[in-house]
Amino acid sequence: PSYQASKDERNTTRARANMLREILNNNPHRNKFNSKELYDVLDLCLSCKGCKTECPSGVDVAKLKSEFLYQYYQTNRRPLRMYAITAFGKTQKLASHFSILYNYMVSSAILSSAIKKAIGFSLYRSLPKVHGTSWMKWLRKNIHQLNASLDQKKGEVVIFVDEFTNYNEAHIGIKTTLLLNELGYRIHIVKHTESGRAHLSKGFLKTARKLARHNVNLLKSAINHSIPLIGIEPSAILSFRDEYPDLLREKEKKEALSLAENVFTIEEFIASEFKQGKITADQFIDLEATIHYHGHCQQKAIVGTDPARTILQIPRNFTVKEIKSGCCGMAGSFGYEKEHFDLSMKIGELVLFPAVRNANMEDIISASGTSCRHHIKDGTGKIAVHPVEILYDALL
Ligand code: SF4
Repeated sequence: PSYQASKDERNTTRARANMLREILNNNPHRNKFNSKELYDVLDLCLSCKGCKTECPSGVDVAKLKSEFLYQYYQTNRRPLRMYAITAFGKTQKLASHFSILYNYMVSSAILSSAIKKAIGFSLYRSLPKVHGTSWMKWLRKNIHQLNASLDQKKGEVVIFVDEFTNYNEAHIGIKTTLLLNELGYRIHIVKHTESGRAHLSKGFLKTARKLARHNVNLLKSAINHSIPLIGIEPSAILSFRDEYPDLLREKEKKEALSLAENVFTIEEFIASEFKQGKITADQFIDLEATIHYHGHCQQKAIVGTDPARTILQIPRNFTVKEIKSGCCGMAGSFGYEKEHFDLSMKIGELVLFPAVRNANMEDIISASGTSCRHHIKDGTGKIAVHPVEILYDALL
């Protein structure tokens, strides 16, 4: 995506891979990764994993970038912004206790500009607000009653309460819970830790490994073929499949691989249950709707968008038009960073923003990724919703 927006050959996957090989072979420094040139070449990689599926040899530059950043910062000093980004889960947890004050601060032009300046975020980017309650708090209060209300259960799942939905978009988590309950599924919650996605993207690999180890150890006995782990934020849940096995070694790696076999995005889970006839169109309204769907880039690289398109067409008269957009340009924290903001907007303008703007007023815009939804709002002023929100609203 950075090449498509900039048309600069240095931003191609090929150039990044060549530069990495060249510098690792010829860098005279003890730490071969200590290269500002290599840093600059990898800086505009959005870690979207588009190359993982599109490159014939399946090169995953996002993973190489994580490793590079880890090694590079063994010798160089990390900027404050990296710590702020990886502390996102903790700061949002704290903010959720003072949601009115925090939301006032991030909405106020003066206060939010001061926060963005201090962190190194673009002044043109909006900051995410926190929900009045966390999804986990809501689950603890309501889950027993919801599970007890089921006459007959169709299945059981453990839900992954990712750090983004938990504090910033708890309403989506709540709708997911109510949707699964209405469809007849018993939901379990486990006191897991955050996914480590932010740590991976910034090269904090030791912390990412600790988080992966904690989650695998905790969930390996709770998850099996009959009780899968499902998540609604693609970048978080797919860490279990695409990142954890590479972060861990030997016995733990095997456990991570075996756990990964029963980890799914919510779209994959509902699509599979629909195909088995456990979820039917009769459970949803017959009204007509057109949905313009943008898939998250890591979801596209690892799962594809078929499951999302399938579930959005369970209601009989829903039509899905997939936006052929590649990465939206936000890529987690990338589009917040002041030096990356312009490029992130340019990438958004390639396909995604025009498609959203050209949609009819009554059409629904949908995106599975929290960053994608945020970017769509900042770039077009339109609200995009998660597919589960659409299904929940379409229940009979
Ligand atoms: S991860 Fe995305 S931005 Fe980075 S090299 Fe691969 S395709 Fe390009």
